[in-house]
Amino acid sequence: MDIRNVFCVGRNYRLHAAELGNEVPSSPMIFLKPSHAAISLSDGILAIPGTQGAVHYEAELVLAAARPFERGISPDDLFSHMTVGLDLTLRDVQDQLKAKGHPWTPAKGFRNSAPLGRWLPFPGTAELAKRDFTLRLNGQEVQRGNVQDMVFGIAELSEFVGVRYGFGTGDILFTGTPAGVGSLAAGDELELAWGEQPLGSAKVSLEG
Ligand code: ZN
Repeated sequence: MDIRNVFCVGRNYRLHAAELGNEVPSSPMIFLKPSHAAISLSDGILAIPGTQGAVHYEAELVLAAARPFERGISPDDLFSHMTVGLDLTLRDVQDQLKAKGHPWTPAKGFRNSAPLGRWLPFPGTAELAKRDFTLRLNGQEVQRGNVQDMVFGIAELSEFVGVRYGFGTGDILFTGTPAGVGSLAAGDELELAWGEQPLGSAKVSLEG
């Protein structure tokens, strides 16, 4: 897939907002990553920054748009594919940026900060709720999420982003992370899944 705009939603699960001491926003909190952040997690090795403090994983359901947004379009018509991805975050850098009131790009937009699992056909918003997505770290489940627990659901998010910023073919939307985020270390094994379906795995390597 030729990835274009990478939209992300912050604090879209109550328990995750709480674990970082953040308030739940009253409207969707949108930020972007450069398209160069997106890589396939099936490549075996995930290279991440090793010298800028903690790199946190955030497993998220990711949707891909197949056509231009029009007001009132149903998400089932707008999105053609789904997967699970990681919104990798330089957490110490983000804390410094937040304290200064600066944009999040250095913390959220670095190269490889948006690893993506294998794309599946989008099953529709109703079907999405029937299975959880998960992240396993070294064989242990560390995150489990379901669209039903989102603060802003798929329809709200697609309308909100589409009206303000537009959606087009190749644009993707990270829909927020559930609780359980944590740091990555060299050699960590990551596995993403939707229900029983494995979507990708890789081993973490730290770059100097
Ligand atoms: Zn996130």
